[in-house]
Amino acid sequence: MFAVQLLKDFISLFYPEVCLCCGEGLGDQEKFICTICLYKLPKTNFHLHGENELKKVFWGRAEINAAAALGYFEKGNAIQTLVHELKYRNKKELGTYLGKYYGQELKKSALYQKCDTVIPVPLHRNKLKRRGYNQSALFGRGIAESMGIKEDEDLLVRNSDTATQTRKSRMSRWQNVHGIFEVTKKESLKDMNILLVDDVITTGATLEACACALNEAGAASVSIASIGYAAK
Ligand SMILES: [Zn+2]
Repeated sequence: MFAVQLLKDFISLFYPEVCLCCGEGLGDQEKFICTICLYKLPKTNFHLHGENELKKVFWGRAEINAAAALGYFEKGNAIQTLVHELKYRNKKELGTYLGKYYGQELKKSALYQKCDTVIPVPLHRNKLKRRGYNQSALFGRGIAESMGIKEDEDLLVRNSDTATQTRKSRMSRWQNVHGIFEVTKKESLKDMNILLVDDVITTGATLEACACALNEAGAASVSIASIGYAAK
């Protein structure tokens, strides 16, 4: 272990760790994002307001207990940078880091008190193989750890590799997403208050499909949390 640390220190002499958002060098206590950029993140604070605009996205589409996102996702902003690093640049630890950070906030919110199991939006097995990891599951692990609740990555599976259609009409979209997600352990779902997590919410079609599958299979409640929300 000592040798590993020594090597890390040696490497950091030439390649100091920098903030993913601003490029400034990170201090000893900082990881991935500097304190200033963390403070300046375009947060939504949806977890403090029951009837927020994200929850309204699901009105008439899926039964949702609470909906929240860490920040607003916009082209070129810090949340987009972080999601991009997590998804495409193999920054796996960043996922759990963001989850732990947001989990601390959710833990303080009355709206999320009853959540007892984190379930990430699953990737199809082919995609999981290609990417090597599920970015939403990493975020979910961090949240579960901070909130001191369970996490289950096998309960919900994705059967289709096709992208969730978003431009179709509500009816054809419903037909399209219905059946993509399947609940594997229905007997363990009863009385479960689920916290469904995703990386970015845009139209909400994917989460709608997941939430409907979980509700239909008998979940006690479904709440939602994501890293980014791309408001229209
Ligand atoms: Zn920074």
